[in-house]
Amino acid sequence: MKNPLKDKKIVFLDLDGTVYLGDNLIPGAKNFLKNLASKGIHFYFLSNNSSRSKLDYVKKLSRLGINTTKERIILSTDGVIDFLIRNKVKDTYIVGTRSMMDMFEEAGINPCSDSPEYVVLGFDTELVYEKLRKAAFFLLKDIPLLATHPDLVCPTPEGPIPDIGAMLSLFEKATGKKARKVFGKPNVEMVRHIMKKHQATNREVVMVGDRIYTDMELANRLKCDFFLVLSGETSAEEAARLKKKPAVVAENIGKILP
Ligand SMILES: [Mg+2]
Repeated sequence: MKNPLKDKKIVFLDLDGTVYLGDNLIPGAKNFLKNLASKGIHFYFLSNNSSRSKLDYVKKLSRLGINTTKERIILSTDGVIDFLIRNKVKDTYIVGTRSMMDMFEEAGINPCSDSPEYVVLGFDTELVYEKLRKAAFFLLKDIPLLATHPDLVCPTPEGPIPDIGAMLSLFEKATGKKARKVFGKPNVEMVRHIMKKHQATNREVVMVGDRIYTDMELANRLKCDFFLVLSGETSAEEAARLKKKPAVVAENIGKILP
């Protein structure tokens, strides 16, 4: 078996279901990262989960024995904030967690305005009905909706739980309004700036993940290699049915390298 990391400059790693599942590190994750570091391959952690801040992720990874920095964490929330700053938006109404609101406030954007320019939907694990009521009220006044990512569910050790994709359906049923823009994987805006920074071409990049419609789709859009791990959402049967085969299919991140 040839080394699937030959000539690679950057590895993008999904977190939930790839590096860890809930509060458990996936077997071999630490070794895989050590291997990348020893080969001088840059690596970044990508998460569509907008319920947490970068610092939350740094802390969680450190608890699991992986020391990293905020610079290596790329969140779907980053793309939204970047978009709002570029469009000089100051007032939003966020359906999202306190951590997400903090990220907006740090960027100088009001997350709970009474006259928002956008309603922003994040993965709100602290959801209360009042937020749904207010957001629906703004959508009916034609305030456009942004979503941090498209995931229908979030994997947990006990099974999948409702995520933003499901919430988008709720708002569409209730108000008839769809998201104007959906950020996060598989939107290539999430990683293009990193490729530019390291002057990496698509052939020099790898995406590692457990999910077809976000992780593999991002790799397809970037035209880069995809390593599919079966430690999260995708089963071996589903992997076998894929028309376009990933460069690697492995039981988990620890089994990617020969
Ligand atoms: Mg995942």
